[in-house]
Amino acid sequence: MENMPSEEIIYDAIVVGAGPAGCSCALFLARANRTVLIADKALFPREKVCGDAVSGKSIGVLRELGLLGEIEKNTHGVINGTKFVSPNGKEVTVPFPKATGMDCAGYTLPRKQTDLALFDAVRHEPHITAMQKFAVEEIIKDDRGRVCGIIGTDGMSSENTPEKKTFHARAIVGTDGSGSVVSRKLGLPSPTPEHTYMAIRGYWRGIKELTDNIELFFIDGVLPGYVWIFPIGGGAANVGLGILLSDMKKRNEHPNRILMNVVNSYPSISRRFAGAVMEGQIGAWTIPNGSFRKQNSGEGWLLSGDAASLVDPFSGEGVGNALVSGKYAAQTIQDAIAATPGSEPLSAESLMPYTKMVDDYLRPEMEQSYKLQQLSRHKFLLNLLIGKAATKPKVRQKIIDMLASDEEKKKVESPWFYLDVLLPW
Ligand SMILES: Cc1cc2nc3c(=O)[nH]c(=O)nc-3n(C[C@H](O)[C@H](O)[C@H](O)COP(=O)(O)OP(=O)(O)OC[C@H]3O[C@@H](n4cnc5c(N)ncnc54)[C@H](O)[C@@H]3O)c2cc1C
Repeated sequence: MENMPSEEIIYDAIVVGAGPAGCSCALFLARANRTVLIADKALFPREKVCGDAVSGKSIGVLRELGLLGEIEKNTHGVINGTKFVSPNGKEVTVPFPKATGMDCAGYTLPRKQTDLALFDAVRHEPHITAMQKFAVEEIIKDDRGRVCGIIGTDGMSSENTPEKKTFHARAIVGTDGSGSVVSRKLGLPSPTPEHTYMAIRGYWRGIKELTDNIELFFIDGVLPGYVWIFPIGGGAANVGLGILLSDMKKRNEHPNRILMNVVNSYPSISRRFAGAVMEGQIGAWTIPNGSFRKQNSGEGWLLSGDAASLVDPFSGEGVGNALVSGKYAAQTIQDAIAATPGSEPLSAESLMPYTKMVDDYLRPEMEQSYKLQQLSRHKFLLNLLIGKAATKPKVRQKIIDMLASDEEKKKVESPWFYLDVLLPW
């Protein structure tokens, strides 16, 4: 039996947006016996434009939530490494470390399915009231300026006359993605174009030579952006393009056209697409990078996932940090409520541990990934690194270490790193 939403009670938390960040936050709170109202403007299953890669970090949280089995029931790709292709056509494949307790590094499957598994778990949880087709439009503040509720339009109440509804909680968590209404209503700035990827993706069936590696192409005509091919199982692949919005604005070309040029004309790629069929439309969305530091907590509110701009600036991976930050938000709310029982909005001070957790555990990785992103903008450096890694095991190992460790990523700033790469042994 699903719970009916109530405008009369004060929930422990209202979670705005039921993507990975929102579902993670709601599930962890509910399992700590907290009452949660979660609202999403979409009707599930819903599409989400994404590369569809589920990393080791994501797998860790999904397993903790008991949802890995549900995800694995879907047709999916298994990922064990990344193939990097340089502008001068050199290739190197680096293995990923296996996810804890798994015999692979990660999965790939359409977000429609991953997110449905999460939302299904949410709507069957006794402490959660889940609303679909409920678009949040306003946040409410009390007379002390603390966020204490939301107003939105309930599209489920009647198709013809959607109803305005108001709900209250001790904490409002904005997990409503890169265009976050909660963030805008709080008056927070959006990431600048230098810290935002414009990304598109489409699905193809029948591409030749798909393996258990994801593929990243840093090639002429696309740089300083990149193209990916992510196999998603069943002979299909997610094919996309990511480029900083600031770079895209300088080009007089539609991103779909750049991607289709690569698919149709870039020699080592187009031959693999001969006979392949595109399914559906190319979708586009923005990716708010973690290189933009955004306030993520305050009086009665928190932001998690894309709403807090927490995507890895090099890989564009955001699901892992969405799930993890949703969990941190839940832990913080749980602790804050335990320390201050009652029905008042939670203070900024009591929610500050969330910001500290993000800073301590997620920020360092994003800062180092930003350095890799900056490096990957230079054709010369890409040719050098990928070319050397293709022939020198020592350099290949450096890249493997760099992708796995923040300490190793720091070395890209040192001249010794490049000297080591250039040495003939
Ligand atoms: C092309 C592309 C490729 C990517 N590839 C990858 C990848 O391979 N792996 C990876 O890990 N990450 C990838 N990402 C990033 C990833 O998609 C995001 O980081 C992730 O979806 C963030 O999750 P979230 O829960 O914060 O937000 P979302 O998944 O965006 O969920 C937000 C939810 O909020 C709802 N919502 C929005 N506004 C309102 C409102 N006003 N009221 C109520 N509900 C609202 C939406 O309907 C949605 O369900 C990619 C992104 C793009 C664009």
